[in-house]
Amino acid sequence: MNLHACVGCEISMPFSWNLKNLPFCQTCFTYLKPHTEFNSEFYAVYPSHGVSHKILRHWKKHPHSLFETEIFRRARPALEKLKSCHRKESWDYLIPIPQKSSRAFLLGGGPARRIAERLARELNIPVADALENRSSDGSSQAKKSLQERFESPLEFGVTTHHGYEFFNKRALLVDDFMTSGQTLKQAKLALVRAGLDDVSIFVLGHRPHFFNRDV
Ligand SMILES: [Zn+2]
Repeated sequence: MNLHACVGCEISMPFSWNLKNLPFCQTCFTYLKPHTEFNSEFYAVYPSHGVSHKILRHWKKHPHSLFETEIFRRARPALEKLKSCHRKESWDYLIPIPQKSSRAFLLGGGPARRIAERLARELNIPVADALENRSSDGSSQAKKSLQERFESPLEFGVTTHHGYEFFNKRALLVDDFMTSGQTLKQAKLALVRAGLDDVSIFVLGHRPHFFNRDV
């Protein structure tokens, strides 16, 4: 076993790389190419397949800050595009999908919240922890098959405890990945019911097959 192998292609890496922080070689990192155009109301930064999927998944499990910085540095063209969209859309809040994982606390609120915090600094709008997971089924969506996700999507409630004002406001709903789109669809529904005027969606990675699915 080669202890200094790239996580993506398993080719051994030069020692100059900080393997703990960036476990992928430069060749693999070039597969991480952000979109430069967005669909209206749906903002996905990276198509997540093959090596790019491995990189994004690895960050989700090991969200080291240097690794994260590299992912967002490469997303710069997409983030600039998002900024120009914000000038038109004028979002009032960034609302992350709440994470069920018990590891979420350890990771500083989970991947969706970490992404929302980055976007908050970029767009200069607040993060609102407005969603509560109200599903009776306690299992994680990530562990379910696609069929199971369609059959039992998460259900969300909107909390009023923090004094958020949602009536006639606009929000950007934030998650790390979109796979089936069911989680985001349910979250958006809950927010619209709570009085939000408009809810757009932002994800770091999406499975390309589902790019055109309604959410
Ligand atoms: Zn590699």
